[in-house]
Amino acid sequence: VNGIQSSLQSLELQTSDDGVQMEVEEEQNRKRHLNVVFIGHVDAGKSTTGGQILFLSGQVDERTIQKYEKEAKDKSRESWYMAYIMDTNEEERAKGKTVEVGRAHFETETTRFTILDAPGHKSYVPNMISGASQADIGVLVISARKGEFETGYERGGQTREHVLLAKTLGVSKLIVVINKMDDPTVGWSKERYDEIEGKMTPFLKSSGYNVKKGIRLLHQSITTLSLGHFLQTMMLFPNLHFVILLFMLFPDVHFLPISGLVGSNMKTRMDKSICSWWNGSCLFEVLDCIEVPLRDPNGPVRMPIIDKYKDMGTVVMGKIESGTIQEGDNLLVMPNKANVKVLTIHCDDDKVRRAAPGENVRIKLSGVEEEDITPGFVLSSITKPVGAVSEFNAQLQILELLDNAIFTAGYKAVLHIHSVVEECEIVELIEEIDLKRKKETDPKKKKPKRKLLFVKNGAVVVCRIQVNNLICVENFSDFPQLGRFTLRTEGKCSVVPKMLAFVPSYDIFA
Ligand code: GDP
Repeated sequence: VNGIQSSLQSLELQTSDDGVQMEVEEEQNRKRHLNVVFIGHVDAGKSTTGGQILFLSGQVDERTIQKYEKEAKDKSRESWYMAYIMDTNEEERAKGKTVEVGRAHFETETTRFTILDAPGHKSYVPNMISGASQADIGVLVISARKGEFETGYERGGQTREHVLLAKTLGVSKLIVVINKMDDPTVGWSKERYDEIEGKMTPFLKSSGYNVKKGIRLLHQSITTLSLGHFLQTMMLFPNLHFVILLFMLFPDVHFLPISGLVGSNMKTRMDKSICSWWNGSCLFEVLDCIEVPLRDPNGPVRMPIIDKYKDMGTVVMGKIESGTIQEGDNLLVMPNKANVKVLTIHCDDDKVRRAAPGENVRIKLSGVEEEDITPGFVLSSITKPVGAVSEFNAQLQILELLDNAIFTAGYKAVLHIHSVVEECEIVELIEEIDLKRKKETDPKKKKPKRKLLFVKNGAVVVCRIQVNNLICVENFSDFPQLGRFTLRTEGKCSVVPKMLAFVPSYDIFA
């Protein structure tokens, strides 16, 4: 009997081991996951393009589309039916209890995508900030329609502000889709496409994105070379390794023409009968190959909490920025130093045993009450907890001041950093940095510092910033996602808040 019992036991062990093995393999086989945010001026076609992506990737069936088409027709807005797919999420979000409801998912061959903040809003900027702070890539939608590109791109248009915010908040790659190419005022004109790309390029460069046309072309040609040809070339020109490495890293920006409404150049390459001059990739190909900076699966755990709710325990939601979280892990919720245990983990709708960086997760915790967690808190390892501060030094570049004002201590703004939104005040200007001269400065020859009272537009300045509550931050060089922030203030009479200062080289010395 003992023998039978022990062999049954070992059988049980084996099956449960197999189960674990299978789950681990399943997790390893999961496609990579990226968050994408849609940005661009109102009416550029963000909802339409987003809806079309969901349709083309099989997230919406033909019958639902027909229903939307009819609804749109009944409201005499035939051309809006694609946008309805995204706007449904908007309604659901109004009803729903979690942020997750407002999110749409789709997959390409290599990647699972989550669309953050279905962009139906007109007052889109604050939502865009929370979306962009978690996004890996941005799809910048530009309308090619006569007059529309111009309005969106002018001062006051949302194109520039969205791009600056996206860069500041860590959206490292942008896909610029020049949309509405099918419009009668455009007619797939190469001149119009080139005009918009030409105007956007210097602006994107000045916002900190690498837009290298030459490299992009070479990159495109390399991807079309055969592997043998490629290796042969590499042996002939060993220095090319370095150049290839650059290709892998650059560019940050991909331009392509599309029609979000008709769905041209989105899932399949452009039909030559529609547009003869475009030889480049289609949108899904770019989404498939886009490279984003790697996150460290073995690093300390960092997960900014974007929302929380009660469900037979405390559930927190967010994106893992560093480290791997496993069922049973003991972690800290910061800054309130609550010791918690991970009970379950959900990735999209699937229950998983562990989740890697980059994943959007829902984690059930024991050891903390839901009321004791505020969005903006960070789930962190116990051994290397995230920093929590109420004052920190940061480097700011003053981009655009209202009425050419000067920037002084006492300046108040709203600070957005990962999922934190806090009122803050600049309490001291410490030092103005001359970026051109910085490298030559010999610290021994440094003049004694005089108190810095103000700086003007365009200045780069190290400031001391104070917030009312403890917030979790990190040095930018250690964890860019937790060391990158933006400051905003609202102009008294303006509807669209003006961004006064932002932080391109964002060092936080906590
Ligand atoms: P959003 O405000 O950026 O989300 O813009 P919408 O997606 O709501 O689109 C605004 C308007 O532009 C709607 O009337 C759309 O039908 C129209 N539109 C969007 N994409 C295209 C396109 O590719 N071609 C044409 N002709 N119209 C489009």
